[in-house]
Order: sequence, then structure tokens, then C-alpha cells
Amino acid sequence: MSLALTRGDLIRRHNFIDGLWAGAFDGACFAVSNPATSETIAEVADSGTVDARAATDAAARAFPGWRDMLARERAEILRRWHALIVANTEDLARLMSMEQGKPLTESRGEVAYGASYVAWFADEAIRIYGDLIPQQQRGKRMSAVKEPVGVVAAITPWNFPLAMIVRKIAPALAAGCTVVAKPAEDTPLTALALAALAQEAGLPDGVLNMVSASRAQGVIAVADWLADPRVRKITFTGSTPVGKHLAREAAGTLKRLSLELGGNAPFIVFDDADLDAAVTGLMAAKFRNGGQTCVCPNRIYVQGSVYTDFANRLAKRVAALTVGPATDPGAQIGPMINARAVDKIARHVDEAVQRGATVLVGGRRLTELGANFYAPTVLTDANDDMLFCSEETFGPIAPLFRFDDEAQALRLANATPYGLAAYFYTQDVRRINRVAGQLEAGVVGINEGAVSSEAAPFGGVKESGYGREGSKYGLDDYLAVKYMCQGGLN
Ligand code: NAD
Repeated sequence: MSLALTRGDLIRRHNFIDGLWAGAFDGACFAVSNPATSETIAEVADSGTVDARAATDAAARAFPGWRDMLARERAEILRRWHALIVANTEDLARLMSMEQGKPLTESRGEVAYGASYVAWFADEAIRIYGDLIPQQQRGKRMSAVKEPVGVVAAITPWNFPLAMIVRKIAPALAAGCTVVAKPAEDTPLTALALAALAQEAGLPDGVLNMVSASRAQGVIAVADWLADPRVRKITFTGSTPVGKHLAREAAGTLKRLSLELGGNAPFIVFDDADLDAAVTGLMAAKFRNGGQTCVCPNRIYVQGSVYTDFANRLAKRVAALTVGPATDPGAQIGPMINARAVDKIARHVDEAVQRGATVLVGGRRLTELGANFYAPTVLTDANDDMLFCSEETFGPIAPLFRFDDEAQALRLANATPYGLAAYFYTQDVRRINRVAGQLEAGVVGINEGAVSSEAAPFGGVKESGYGREGSKYGLDDYLAVKYMCQGGLN
């Protein structure tokens, strides 16, 4: 199977600023490669301060016009963008598989998932209500309206090249904000194709601006946005250390922040769980995108009496997974994003084995497939001295920890600075209430491994960040409440 596109014009190598496509100011480029083969797919603009500043200039100029459009008109453009994304599903999926490595079926799923946020926020755009506050004093009328915060800077990771950026751009545009965006250096092509489709949908010039950059240049470009008082908000998805850095730097101009950061999700299997359902839920939550998702279970806690049974059932399912490049129609697990990612996974597994873990399945690099492949792995006898407990592994590794009772499971599950997702399986309804209430996480899966939806509020607590994407709450991060008090009415 080839990854050639039907619409070659969706491969964009230039920045999109003020409705124009142009290379970086100094002509610099960097290579985007296919993680399955390490071959270069395209050279794209390597943007710096001048390009970032030009994007902000355009977004600031476009803001009043976009803000003052009727919400209905903004919604119409979002609907057209949604239709174009859906119509170009196959090309977007191929582009995504090429630069990110995930199997094509997953890429197609991500296009549908990402597009659903555009449709959702097109609908939400026309329901941004304010309040007429019940009268408190004669002759005075008090009201509150919601206004767009202004220019928003969106910075996104590589693991969901389409969904992560759409989850930011769609609510920002719906709220009436204009956007400057920088996708991850590993996966800029999908994002740039989305910008091309937004332009085709009739988005006015300057409302959405997108620059690509290598890691080093991207830091410089984003630094300009962080310092610029015209950028009123930063919305970021990525690792916790980078999120903290952005929060510190954004403090200089007191920008608003939404931070969707790293996770270290616990997945608890109680002895009264339906074990087959728990295995199926874990397979979905753990192995999607090769284990490279922020909501991936990183620590699997299994109650002692069902530990061996669960481990064996899981090992059977994991051993049957097909690993291969996205061009392989049967592939369920693709390559990891880059050499650094595979090295981290190998380090976690090797360290665990040294500290007493046993490999049931996998536990090795698949160099016969390419440099970036790692075998889906199940480890037993994991313990809390291992790196899984302190770091996000971000790979297809399922370490099984043993616990004795509910209190211990909760203590272990919450013993992390992260708080994004948590999952548990039990058939006891009283336990469901107790455990769901005590887990320190922004998202809880109860007898369910697939939790994401455009209709649900997604986000973390603790060092997994703040802000919510999707749902009726998803617009709040892009809106400021203005209170107006009108006097002299008596
Ligand atoms: P990353 O933090 O390394 O990079 C994310 C983005 O920030 C990239 O665009 C990168 O170029 C940019 N960046 C990096 N350093 C920067 C700096 N100093 N200044 C400005 N920008 C900088 O993360 P990643 O490796 O691309 O993505 C994986 C991480 O993202 C994981 O921790 C994962 O859990 C997290 N993630 C979280 C969510 C969520 O919704 N909470 C979703 C997906 C991924």
C-alpha cells in the first residue's frame, strides 16, 4: 500500500500567515521524516522570531473583524471546514500515518475524532450566552457578557497531529479569537494541511496563522509569543516540564493558560471485575497509538487473587498484536515516533527487569522492522521503585503491579504528581462510587477503556495541567466575562 495522496496540494511546506503561504523569513528549512523508515518526507519552513511576529501581527489585525462577525457566520465557516476535513479523510490519514507512523485505521479514526470537535464547536459558537443579573438597586442594570480573549497561541505535540491542534483551534475560532499555532516538529504536515482546508472553507485572512519549526527554532518562535502582550492566551498540549516553562514565561504578561500535560494513568483491576472486559478495556486504553497517548495506563494494578489469571489473559492478547509500518494493512502497532522515544522505552523495561520484573511477552526492540519499532510488552512483578511510577513511558509496555485491598490500590494509584486519566474495573456498585470519588484524576474510566469524546470535558488535575477541552466547558478557556453596570435608569 502506498501513502501517496489524491490531493498533492495538501502537502504544504510553507508557513500560513495572513492568508499567504511563504517560506521562513530567512529561507531556513528542516526535514520531516517517516518514523517507520527514517526517510525524509518533506522539507518545511524552519520559522523563528520574524515569522512568529508576522503571525501575531496578522492575528492581531484580524481579531476585531472576526470577533465582530455574527456567531452564526463564524459557525458557518467552521461547518465548511468540518465538511472539508471529512471529505479529505483519506489524504489526511495518509499524511498523518506518514509523518507520525500510526496505522492507517487509527489515522482515519483520528480524522473523524478531530473533525467532531469542529462540528461540536460550530454548534457551541451560537450558544455563548451572558446574564442579565436580577436587579439589586433601583436605577441600575447589571449584566455579564462573554467576550473572546483575543489572540491565542496554540502549541501542540506529535502524538495526535490532527486532533490536538483542532481541539484548540476550533473552540478558539468559535469563541471569536484569532490564532497563531505551532505544531510539533515531528508532525507539522497534517496541521499545515488542516490550515489549507480552513482557508478553502473561507476563513478570513489572518484569523488562523500557522508556522512550522524545528525543536530549537520552535522554542525561539514561541518565546516571541510568550513575550508579546498582544497574545492574550497560550493553549498548550505536551509534556509537563515544557508546560511549566510556558507557565513561568507567560507570567511576564499574565496570559491566560490552558495546559494539557503529561499523565501516568493507573488502571486498577479489582478481584470482582469482569476480567475479559478488563483485558479488552486495557488493550484499547494501553495500545492505541502504540502506547503513545497521554491517557495511556502506565501502571496496571491487579488484585492478588486474580493477578496470574489476568496476566495470562492479557499476555495472550498482546502476543497476537501485529506490529508494522502504516503501509502494512494488518498493522495494529506502528513505529515509535523517534529514536529518543524507543531509547526511553528500552530504558524503562531494562531497568524494571534489573529490579525484578519478569517479561511475559515482548521486552525487546524489533530491529528487523526498523530502528524505531518496539515489541508490545507485558511485565509482571512490577514495583514502585521502577521508572514506570515516576515517568511516563509513552510506549506499548504494560507493567502489572500487585495489590491486596482497595485502600492500598487507591494509595498507589494516587502516588504520582500526575492526574490526567485513571481507570478501574469492578462490578461492585458501592465500590464504583467510592473509588471514582477518591481517584485524583481529571478523567475516570469506570469499566471502560475508551473515554475520549468531543462531548466530554477532557483535562487534568495536579501536574497534568488545567483547562478543559471539548464539551460545553471547552469554550470557557477562550472567553472572558465582562460585567457591565448601567446606572441612571430611574
Ligand atoms: P513536548 O512537551 O516535548 O512538546 C510539545 C510541543 O511543545 C511541541 O510543539 C514542541 O516543539 C514544543 N516545545 C518543546 N519545548 C518547548 C519550549 N521550551 N518552548 C516552547 N515550545 C516548546 O511534548 P511531546 O513529546 O511533543 O508530546 C508528548 C507529551 O505530550 C507527553 O507528555 C503527553 O502526555 C503529552 N500529551 C498530553 C495530552 C493531554 O491532553 N493532556 C495529549 C497528548 C499528549
